[in-house]
Amino acid sequence: MEQEVIEKKPQKQDRQPGIEAEMNPKPEYIKATYKASGKLNGKVALITGGDSGIGRAVSVHYAKEGADVGIVYLDEDVDAQETKKLVEAEGRKCLLFKGDVKNADFCKETVQNIISELGSLNILVNNAGMQIPQKEAEAITEDQLEQTFRTNIFAYFYFAQAAVEHMKEGDCIINTTSVTAYRSSPNLIDYSSTKGAITSFTRSLATNLAKKKIRVNAVAPGPVWTPLIVSTFEEEKIKKFGSETAMERPGQPSELGPAYVFLASDDASFITGQVMHVNGGEVVNG
Ligand code: NAD
Repeated sequence: MEQEVIEKKPQKQDRQPGIEAEMNPKPEYIKATYKASGKLNGKVALITGGDSGIGRAVSVHYAKEGADVGIVYLDEDVDAQETKKLVEAEGRKCLLFKGDVKNADFCKETVQNIISELGSLNILVNNAGMQIPQKEAEAITEDQLEQTFRTNIFAYFYFAQAAVEHMKEGDCIINTTSVTAYRSSPNLIDYSSTKGAITSFTRSLATNLAKKKIRVNAVAPGPVWTPLIVSTFEEEKIKKFGSETAMERPGQPSELGPAYVFLASDDASFITGQVMHVNGGEVVNG
């Protein structure tokens, strides 16, 4: 049914990052049937890109499970304020950190700030990301290449390095990679390369941090209905978005949130260096 609505209203946005408040239909960030059980009681989580899309779903699920959260976002104040309201409605704290994750100092200061305000940092969700599709490989400029790598993978390093200094046994890092790291993506060569890097980063960091009993995993979403999609793809691609999955529809952020809960919780205590694939079935002609 969602697919039908999306086909009628592709809602192309002309700024990046996109704005969830302006999407129609709006993404679903949590299912009405979701039952929390205190899986993250007393934890503090920092979620980059937490204002919208998958990050909003993670923020709301974490709050429902008992965690206080900090949200990093570039400049989408309306979305960030809405997510803050949703988190606070669950009785949890929500700090907003507005800034550019390409800036290493901003990433380090954000980690310092969440710890000084909330007392600790137990879960880091590296999730902020950007993409600029290009039909031809030669069209990817040096500037685009640098921006994409700085946002999508350098920042994951900056946050992880700063966080690990303060993390202790039982804490964890979750990175958002993508199905594009596992199949070809002809119009997203630079973006999919960063997602491959995130997957390798996840495996190597996991074995490095195992001795400290800090787990590191990733989630690889398939096509998910978020502001990233309406702000970066052409109308035609938006109309058909997700139809290439075995389920022939895009996922909703609400279908991603529970994977991040599981990986952050003690239920995943023997899982590290792994990627959880949430993609509606093998993508065939993406
Ligand atoms: P989204 O637009 O809701 O989230 C992207 C977030 O990244 C925004 O919150 C934005 O503020 C943040 N961001 C971008 N550049 C930034 C910068 N320079 N500094 C600070 N923050 C910045 O879209 P989403 O789809 O929820 O994206 C979340 C993650 O999921 C991304 O890493 C994306 O690559 C990944 N992903 C999305 C899909 C999909 O189909 N939507 C599929 C696979 C992977």
